[in-house]
Amino acid sequence: MTPDTVDVLVLGGGPAGLVAAIRAGDLGARTALVTRDAFGGMAALDGPVPVRTLAHAARLVRDARQLGRYGIAVSDPVLDYPRLLARVREVVDDARAHAVFRRQVDAAGVAVHEHAGIARFADAHTVETQSGLRFRAEKIIVCTGGVSRRLAVPGFELTATHSDAWGLTSAPPTMLVIGAGATGAQVASIFNAFGTRVELFQAAPRILPTEDEDVSTAVAAAFRAAGIAVHEDFGSIESFEEAPGGVRMNFAKDGVRDSAEAAVVVVAVGWTAGTAGLDLAKAGVDTDPRGFVSVDSALRTTAPHIFAAGDVTGRLMLVPQAMQDGFVAATNAVRGPLLVNDDVVAPIGSFTDPEYAQVGMTEAKARESHDVLVTVVRFDETTRTIVDGRTTGFCKLIIDRATHTILGCHIVGERAVDIVQTAAIAIATGLRVDDLARVPLSFPTYTGILGRAAAISARALGRDSGETRFAEWM
Ligand SMILES: Cc1cc2nc3c(=O)[nH]c(=O)nc-3n(C[C@H](O)[C@H](O)[C@H](O)COP(=O)(O)OP(=O)(O)OC[C@H]3O[C@@H](n4cnc5c(N)ncnc54)[C@H](O)[C@@H]3O)c2cc1C
Repeated sequence: MTPDTVDVLVLGGGPAGLVAAIRAGDLGARTALVTRDAFGGMAALDGPVPVRTLAHAARLVRDARQLGRYGIAVSDPVLDYPRLLARVREVVDDARAHAVFRRQVDAAGVAVHEHAGIARFADAHTVETQSGLRFRAEKIIVCTGGVSRRLAVPGFELTATHSDAWGLTSAPPTMLVIGAGATGAQVASIFNAFGTRVELFQAAPRILPTEDEDVSTAVAAAFRAAGIAVHEDFGSIESFEEAPGGVRMNFAKDGVRDSAEAAVVVVAVGWTAGTAGLDLAKAGVDTDPRGFVSVDSALRTTAPHIFAAGDVTGRLMLVPQAMQDGFVAATNAVRGPLLVNDDVVAPIGSFTDPEYAQVGMTEAKARESHDVLVTVVRFDETTRTIVDGRTTGFCKLIIDRATHTILGCHIVGERAVDIVQTAAIAIATGLRVDDLARVPLSFPTYTGILGRAAAISARALGRDSGETRFAEWM
């Protein structure tokens, strides 16, 4: 079969691939995009959009239980899981229909091939798809995302991934969640709100191990208070096996064997590159020891005409970063490797209950290289959180005593992910903490806690000119 000849071929239709294809098309390159499934990738179909919808439903259940406290009498909320899943599908469709990407891809003249099945390299410039397409391309950008990491233990096939969990037809009575990183914590938090009895197992000494220690401690305490059984440092898994009511996990710690069982076992122990079936070796593209595609700062792989962007490179695995990667990779593919992708300030957060979010350095990391001031304001001290009855959590600011700028911000509590965006802007612009305290943030708001932490910090640093004091009333 004669191949379609293009200047740039993009593999994968998630955020990284879409932005890469639009950028390449905009720069005048004859561009084609092939993707295994539907347009949108995990971000639209299996990641943030569906998860945020389920987390919103979990929040509604929680809020409904609070109504009595505000003098509103209703009966206890009852979850209709199939109807919720129908709502998730509706939201996913709606979000896709309103995404500007589709129009931009068309406007850029990109030839899009959805549902093409797995693409694989036939040689360094030729790609074939399961659906029978064949392309010859000058430059190729690999944006095939990531997949859940599998464990090499007997019975692993009895377990589920986060995607399977979203696909259940009812909320199961019991669930074990293995792995307490961002995905595992979200699964545990959501199903706990839906009435499932959840046990969360973490091999490391603390849940959310990449977060500031105070965040891990506070979220673990809140999870326990909400009824989730949190098992940290639980040992290592020996096997999974069928049990009368579902699946049993056998594990051992310090030579002592134990087991736990539940109707559903969800394993969320990390993420690996979605490179299965690509035949990267035929194109001379190397992977790193973790299995992710190795790239330099221009996002070039070990084959100089092949670039990679997004989760497949194993850098910060988030939608905004995937899109930035796509832009950089396509620009460099068309114009030559001039743009560098330095990891800029990246706010990160998760929609558990309570939410948590961070930007910049953890306190432990900052203390390694800076003389720091640490200011913590609790959620039960600020006006808006008290008004809304959302008093669990804190906002921690880590400030460089030498420059008075913010090195890190860590928040647990309602709207943490939104609040941290303001801290990210402060860090990105090098704003001094007293300048942040001088901004008259609206009252009473959740973001006000940041103004309060900034004002307290400014006073501690001797930069309190009186005009920052008002922020302490937030
Ligand atoms: C449960 C969960 C929640 C998340 N929540 C958030 C969040 O709140 N905020 C956030 O920013 N990020 C979140 N993420 C991460 C985010 O979804 C990813 O970082 C982002 O989707 C990565 O984009 P990508 O384009 O690199 O890959 P993907 O979105 O994974 O897209 C990869 C595309 O490549 C296609 N593909 C794969 N292999 C092949 C092949 N061989 N041939 C052809 N096509 C192929 C796939 O079909 C897919 O379309 C979440 C992820 C998960 C799992």
